[in-house]
Amino acid sequence: MEAFSDSFSGNRLCGYRRGRIFLFKTGQLSKKNDRKGIKSIRGIAFRKNGEAVKTKRGEIVNNLHKLPMPSKYFNFQHLSLTRGCPGECTFCGSPRFWGKKVRFFSIDYFVKQLVLLYKKGITFFYFSDDTFTISKNRVIEICKKILEKKLKIVWVAISRVNYVNDEIIYWMKKAGCIQISYGVESGSEKIRNSLNKNISTNQIKKAFSVTLKYGILARAYFIYGCPEESLESIQDTIDLIREIKPLSTIFYILDIFPGTTLYEEYKKKFNVTDDIWLKRVEDIMYFETDPKLSEKMILDFGKKLRTSYYKMLPEFVDSISLIDKKELYPMHSDFLSRLAMTFDHGDYAEIESIKEKEKIAEKLYKRSLQYCPDPRAFLGLGIAKQKSSNYKQSVKILAKGIKHFPNDQKLHLCMGISYMNLLEYKKALSYLRPFQESKEVQPYIANCYKALDNFTNDYK
Ligand code: SF4
Repeated sequence: MEAFSDSFSGNRLCGYRRGRIFLFKTGQLSKKNDRKGIKSIRGIAFRKNGEAVKTKRGEIVNNLHKLPMPSKYFNFQHLSLTRGCPGECTFCGSPRFWGKKVRFFSIDYFVKQLVLLYKKGITFFYFSDDTFTISKNRVIEICKKILEKKLKIVWVAISRVNYVNDEIIYWMKKAGCIQISYGVESGSEKIRNSLNKNISTNQIKKAFSVTLKYGILARAYFIYGCPEESLESIQDTIDLIREIKPLSTIFYILDIFPGTTLYEEYKKKFNVTDDIWLKRVEDIMYFETDPKLSEKMILDFGKKLRTSYYKMLPEFVDSISLIDKKELYPMHSDFLSRLAMTFDHGDYAEIESIKEKEKIAEKLYKRSLQYCPDPRAFLGLGIAKQKSSNYKQSVKILAKGIKHFPNDQKLHLCMGISYMNLLEYKKALSYLRPFQESKEVQPYIANCYKALDNFTNDYK
């Protein structure tokens, strides 16, 4: 359910949201395959003498655990437990791409991959299944194995609102999950039904509430510019957002991708064939095919959705209420300080329509420290005080942080900078010198020595 698109030099790889298409220049297929005839490779398409050629559909692999283990040979962060999704959303290419039957990698295969990658130093993962939580028991078992093997990892996942509950979210949180993305699509039940989304408003509300309660960021995907979209349905979406309080949203305009039900309907309605792609069309936006919608309407809808969301976001942050379980306090602390960072350094830092971002961040850092000492929270508050030129206060906060995390380079560097601003270079050096091997720290050490030299020369 996640949007992705990458371009590589030479090859073009187009991964369309829910309508995966892969384009290769045929010249880049190996010579060996050329000799055999690339037609023998199933599941590909290419141009030959200007004509599009499509080979037979690739065979479905049923025993996924028998596939080679890529983590033995490559480093990567995207893993999946499943192939396929039981959903039948009209805009999504997954059912056609994978088939409707969901196939699973074995738990051992999945965990082995994680362990191999972890041993190579990778600690952040994207579990990129269409719906990671389809099998509750499998996911819980994986989470328990992550904990048993003491893998210090964080990861994000994608799910459907009707496949989560308290138990699975609890284990996911314990095992390092920090974000779950859900396709909500629209606040209008009528539009969700027309997209065949098959989820109820109640399920959406429950999933967002349980996810946030455990301190996992629940991200909502929305689609606008759908059949029958109107100002009223956009307002329904805004009303739903107000209720479910997502801390992150992504708004897409409905696109018609090949392999989707919408695409088949489009071909029938306009009496066209797959040959439309020979004209190198980038995409087909749904609104361009619907006389009731115009580009201006779509742009206005998008603007209304985004500005309304950003206006409500500070209230959502204020209303966060985390479950009171002592064992989760360190994770709550981590969740709040991560969220704070998105406001003062991350995604939200650049968004003008979010007001008082730094104040929001400061509040979150302070809330984080109410649960547990957290290096990110100490650092965030230390930097906030530096920004307001309150260096003495910054030193006070950072000193507490360093007491808890004596080996944290960032806290030491920040402390050094605060002392430099207070013109106390010797003290600054006492915090910077233990990290003199670090390229990031070295310029500050040099500046301290320079300042001390100038100072001595001035008084010679
Ligand atoms: S739930 Fe719908 S949108 Fe998500 S992967 Fe399944 S079919 Fe696609």
